Formats: sequence, C-alpha cells, structure tokens
Amino acid sequence: MTVAELPLADTLARPLRDLRISVTDRCQFRCTYCMPREIFGRGFVFLPREQLLTFEELARLARVFAGLGVRKLRLTGGEPLLRRDLDKLVAMLAAVDGAQDIALTTNGALLAGKARVLAAAGLRRVTVSLDSLDDEVFMTLNDARFPVARVLEAIAAAAAAGLAPVKVNMVVRRGVNERSVLPMAAHFRHTGHVLRFIEYMDVGTTNGWRLDEVVPAAEIISVVGGQWPLEPLAPSCPGEVAARYRYRDGGGEIGVIASVTQPFCRGCTRARLSADGKLYTCLFAGTGHDLRGLLRAGASDQALREHVAAIWTRRADRYSERRTRQTSRNKVSRKAEMSYIGG
Ligand code: SAM
Ligand code: SF4
Ligand code: SF4
Repeated sequence: MTVAELPLADTLARPLRDLRISVTDRCQFRCTYCMPREIFGRGFVFLPREQLLTFEELARLARVFAGLGVRKLRLTGGEPLLRRDLDKLVAMLAAVDGAQDIALTTNGALLAGKARVLAAAGLRRVTVSLDSLDDEVFMTLNDARFPVARVLEAIAAAAAAGLAPVKVNMVVRRGVNERSVLPMAAHFRHTGHVLRFIEYMDVGTTNGWRLDEVVPAAEIISVVGGQWPLEPLAPSCPGEVAARYRYRDGGGEIGVIASVTQPFCRGCTRARLSADGKLYTCLFAGTGHDLRGLLRAGASDQALREHVAAIWTRRADRYSERRTRQTSRNKVSRKAEMSYIGG
C-alpha cells in the first residue's frame, strides 16, 4: 500500500480515524476490573522509563497517523496524568496538522490541579471515570481508598476550565455497583455532563471476567428510562461507540457502551498505541506491531506511514462480534491488559 492509495481502509472497509495513545502503563488506582491488586501488586514490573515513547516520538507518530486519516487523538493509559508535563505533549499534539480533536481519559485523581493548563495547551475534551457516588462502593472498585468527592471536584474543575461537557464513564459490574446506576443518573441529570454506562468487558486476562457479571446496556436503559423516560438520539459522529439517549424532560443526555451485548466492531475506526510504542488494531489483540523499534532505528516518516498503512490495510479485527461465552471462559487468547494498551 502506498500513501497515494489513500483513503486508507481495512479489510472490512473501515477507515483509520482515531488514535488512542497510552502514555504510561502505571496507575495509582487498582480498579478490580482493570488492574487487580493480586496481579498488579508490589512485585509487578512496569515499563522502565527508557522504553516509553518520548513526547517527541509521540508527536511524530501522531503526525504520521494524521497523514493516514486520523482526526481524533485520545490520551489514556494507565493513568495519563501520572506522566509528568502532559500539557507539553498536548501542546505538541495540538500543533499536528489534521488532528482536530484532542481528548483525555482520566481517573480524575490529579485533574483538578491540571485542568486549566491542559485546556490552555489545547485539550478539547475530557472523560472522567467514576463508578459510584457511594464511597464504600467506589473504594471497593478503585481499591486505592480514593474518595468520590475528589473525582467530583475534578469534574467541576474540568468544566470550569472550559472542558465542559465532561463525559463520565461508569463501568457497571453486576453485584458490585449496579445499585449505583440510578443515583449516578440522578446526580448528573441537568448538569450538562454526559454519563456513560459501560458494560464490563473481558479485556486482558487478569480481571477474572465472567459474562454473568455484565449488566446489559438494555437493562441499564430500562432501569434509568423507567425512572426518567428516555428517547434515543442519533450518533454524533460515524464510528461512535456509545449509543446516545436523552431524557424526555430535558434533563440532558446519557450513553451506553454495549461492547459485550451489542458489539460495534463494524464501525470501529480506532487504533491504539501502547506506552512502549506498539500499535494495536483492536482492544482485544494479543500482540502489537512495534513502531518504537522503527522510530529509534531512524525510519523516515514515509517508511513509518507505509508500515502503518500496510498494517491497517490487513486489519480484520472484530473480537467483540465473535466473542462467545465459551472462548471467554476458556481464556484461550493472550490478550493485552487495558492499562498497558490504553483504554
Ligand atoms: N486511568 C484512566 C481512567 O480510568 O479513566 C484511563 C485508562 S482506563 C483503562 C480507560 C477506561 O477503561 C476507564 O473509563 C475504565 O473505567 C475503563 N475500563 C477499564 N477496565 C474495563 C473493563 N474491564 N471493562 C470496561 N471498561 C473498563
Ligand atoms: Fe487505573 Fe483507569 Fe485502570 Fe482504574 S481503569 S486501574 S484508574 S487505568
Ligand atoms: Fe474495535 Fe476490537 Fe472493540 Fe471490535 S473488539 S470494537 S474491532 S476494538
């Protein structure tokens, strides 16, 4: 594939539009569904600093991806705000031609003090994760004794810095925080922020995922809609992962990300870059394609572009559409962890 053959499409005719960049595999939380403490405990070895892509390398790759059609960049991890001077990276990415949108997904722990400088550097949107308003439930899930109030402060600080509306991600796990669904909906109605309920996914191999712990999006919509009637909204952009709804009484918008019960692989235009520079064409891929090696061996932008184009052209991933109870139970595959690959 040469770049002259743009627009680029994979084997299922999906273009490359979004790049999720993991800037670190570390996190100060130990969410049970993502980095369970039994695995990510004291002895766990995270990537050494020299293996992480530098800001210059990240900006260069962002330019290469933008040249192939990427329009949206999202910084994630691990916890992206643990990476020092992240605002400098945001400013470098904001200068990339074609990158129309720069977003951040964060647990919020360090956001309140950084929201202003990030917004000033060119960050356009922020998604903050919060799984409950009840401290006991939230702390059970984050396993780091982190209180709800600090996340709410972070959301307010982001809005005050001009990053409103804030998206709030809530992973719903049966028997753990499903009772938090209605209080969360009540809290974020009429705030302008968009609460998104996420089905608990079988990412990685360490969280002990079971299908019966997934609360289907349809159930969540029926519970919330039973309290405050809802109506569906059209997707705001092609390839959007959340199904959108609005409260009929004008209370605002919510979303559900039904990656287990209603997979959306057909419209999946996302690539992921791990903190050590591997390109993953699916959240559930077992292996990535090393770009850091090429970068550090002196590859030209053209060579990098052609390499990425060739990978994307061969892409056939549609894990969620193929997922079955059986494969999940047997854990047949070697899937990368979400904290490493970037959520
Ligand atoms: N640390 C940041 C945060 O928590 O927002 C960014 C990285 S985190 C991996 C990105 C998103 O993935 C979060 O909203 C998190 O709740 C979600 N996530 C992690 N593990 C998940 C799982 N097993 N199923 C569904 N969502 C998950
Ligand atoms: Fe950390 Fe985010 Fe994973 Fe929680 S979901 S452990 S905050 S990376
Ligand atoms: Fe995209 Fe893979 Fe998720 Fe399907 S399973 S939506 S291909 S990341």
